[in-house]
Amino acid sequence: MKQARNKASFDSTILTEIIYGSRENVQKINEAFARVEKALGTDDTSKLPACYGNMNREDAFLEGLKAGKITWEDGFVHKHDLFETMNHQWTAGNSNPFGLHTLLFIPFIRNQASPEQCKIWIPQCESGEIIGCYAQTELGHGSFVRGIETTAIFDEMTDEFIIHSPTFSSSKYWPGALGFTATHAVVMARLISHGLDHGVHAFMCPGWNLEILGNAPIIFWPSETTLTFARLKMAYNAVDNGYARFDQVRIPRTNLFMKSCHLSRQGVYKASKNRQKLLYGGMLNSRRIINRIMAFKFAQALTIAIRYSTVREQGQGSTSFANPQIGEIAIMSYKHQNYRLLSNLAKVYAVFFASQHCDDIHRIHQQKIAKDDHSGLPYAHMLASGLKAWATQTAADGAEDARRCCGGHGYLMISGLPEIFSSLTAMTTLEGDNYVMWQQVAKYLIKNINHNVWPEDMSYIQRRSSSGLHEKCQARGNEFRSCKVLLDIYEHRSARLSTEVAVMIAAPSNAAGTDVWNTYMMQLFSAARAHIEVIILKSFIGHLDRIMDNATKIVLSRLTSLFALTGITSPGAIDAIGFVEDGYLSSCQLRDIRSQIDDLLDELLPDAIALTDAWNFTDASLCSAIGMKDGNVYETIIEWTRQLPINVNAGKTADVFAEGFETSIKPILRGQLQMRERARL
Ligand SMILES: Cc1cc2nc3c(=O)[nH]c(=O)nc-3n(C[C@H](O)[C@H](O)[C@H](O)COP(=O)(O)OP(=O)(O)OC[C@H]3O[C@@H](n4cnc5c(N)ncnc54)[C@H](O)[C@@H]3O)c2cc1C
Repeated sequence: MKQARNKASFDSTILTEIIYGSRENVQKINEAFARVEKALGTDDTSKLPACYGNMNREDAFLEGLKAGKITWEDGFVHKHDLFETMNHQWTAGNSNPFGLHTLLFIPFIRNQASPEQCKIWIPQCESGEIIGCYAQTELGHGSFVRGIETTAIFDEMTDEFIIHSPTFSSSKYWPGALGFTATHAVVMARLISHGLDHGVHAFMCPGWNLEILGNAPIIFWPSETTLTFARLKMAYNAVDNGYARFDQVRIPRTNLFMKSCHLSRQGVYKASKNRQKLLYGGMLNSRRIINRIMAFKFAQALTIAIRYSTVREQGQGSTSFANPQIGEIAIMSYKHQNYRLLSNLAKVYAVFFASQHCDDIHRIHQQKIAKDDHSGLPYAHMLASGLKAWATQTAADGAEDARRCCGGHGYLMISGLPEIFSSLTAMTTLEGDNYVMWQQVAKYLIKNINHNVWPEDMSYIQRRSSSGLHEKCQARGNEFRSCKVLLDIYEHRSARLSTEVAVMIAAPSNAAGTDVWNTYMMQLFSAARAHIEVIILKSFIGHLDRIMDNATKIVLSRLTSLFALTGITSPGAIDAIGFVEDGYLSSCQLRDIRSQIDDLLDELLPDAIALTDAWNFTDASLCSAIGMKDGNVYETIIEWTRQLPINVNAGKTADVFAEGFETSIKPILRGQLQMRERARL
């Protein structure tokens, strides 16, 4: 491992500072992780991490509470927000029972509550007096929010709303922390006043309160609210996702979130003209955060797989990665292995730089909103949605490929990779299913094209479509590394796909608009993805200009080219056919591209370890027996396996093994199977 690390052509600590913004930030993050890992007891990596012990549902939840409390306290005491959006393993914040509170609940209040409501609720949230969750999804409705069935009927007599689940399918199902942790929930329900249904609105619903009830909390939500399904999920098992059926629960009228709407004492409803825009603004923030977290979690998968592939030796041959003593090859030197791992590593950096672009756009949009200017919303919303779809799918697919690159050991839970994949793949669904997200991008494109409106990000579509889109790529050989050539290729594909599908959608038809949309949905997805990939490539290229250190810049330029070129020719590249189906690239040019990729892989191979070290993950946060910094894979696997409770307890009386031996193994060994068979005959 040391040898591989020393081969780097650049100083990984410079890249670390670029990733985290400054040397001071790196220092602060290191200190926070050191404190939290010490408090959790995960700093001693010779010990089997608790999450791999033989934990039942209750243990998993208690571990989640413990970790959540420690990280929350650390932020509180040391005044930082590092763990407000993620946990101590760089997993999204909703992976611990308190995470939803800072990730969704508080931002929602800031965004949707009136100044008077904020004045009451925000201090309570920040001091921990109330703990929140976000209850939108129902058994019957997730993506289609307008279909939500829970009702909030205004009772003018008592000045209250009555929250009710009128049907079985209206049961709230999924909200994280709803099971046991949250004292309050933002509940999405249909606001009904004087028999008029005003659509889905948000309500603050208190569940229980220590102060009112003394030290023994009595839950005054309906009893079914407290049921949870921890451990029934692929990941996120430290969280008490729960379900709730409301039975005429009464809350004050003033618990309706009233920043952009109002219900008077007489039950008269008024909504501000920007209500819808403000609602979108809230979703935009959580998607933006997801995009950022994706980069780090995806980077963890690649860090583990690349470290493992560097020290794992299997097979014979002569390459630069061969071990001269044993004569076997590090698996990293196999072409398919370094192709898969390095092209995924390039995607990690692409996600990261694109998420920074998303952060910048969000900041600008927020500044405008403060002046009641909502003009930035369409682009900000399209970008956060499209990038969420692209980043989560890319990260989940890439992490699974990284896991497979580690063979059997990658299938071990203690490799850390199954948990990383499972937590990443949840992100393709929550906060808006990806294929619903792609439609947001498609709507933005089609609406603008059909209205002949050309925002900055779409100006290339206008320029290229007006010149007919008949040109062919002229590049050869290493010209395919040029940023301009790469952008031309990506822009050409995107402009063509968008304009083609816009024509299909606009063609005269007897079918209803939604049916036409549904007919061309696959083409719409391709156009949406192509536009997002142009934005991602542009932001990757744009970030190169900001890098001052030459050696780092060279390595990242190679990664940029690798990212773009493997997007065209990789066997797994989605929609790659769009680059070639109109003859824009010839088969000779595709050969040139493949040859450039081979060269880039050779150039990047010595930097693979440094490019993963740059993320600065602690061993404890990786939680992987095969991905530690020192590369001592086999020792750690055996050490952790030894500590599994089933092994520690083996041979002791009344344990699982003794019971199993007596009831199942011994009878077979004594030939009782045959005896029973003989008796039957
Ligand atoms: C780990 C996890 C944590 C969660 N936490 C919370 C939480 O804290 N609070 C909360 O309220 N919810 C939570 N959820 C629920 C989550 O928000 C929903 O699962 C998500 O919005 C998707 O909705 P759905 O499950 O109804 O999927 P569906 O909408 O049923 O999607 C199924 C399929 O139908 C397709 N589809 C649906 N509608 C359309 C359409 N209009 N056009 C085209 N295709 C469509 C989708 O693309 C998808 O392929 C969580 C979910 C997970 C997995």
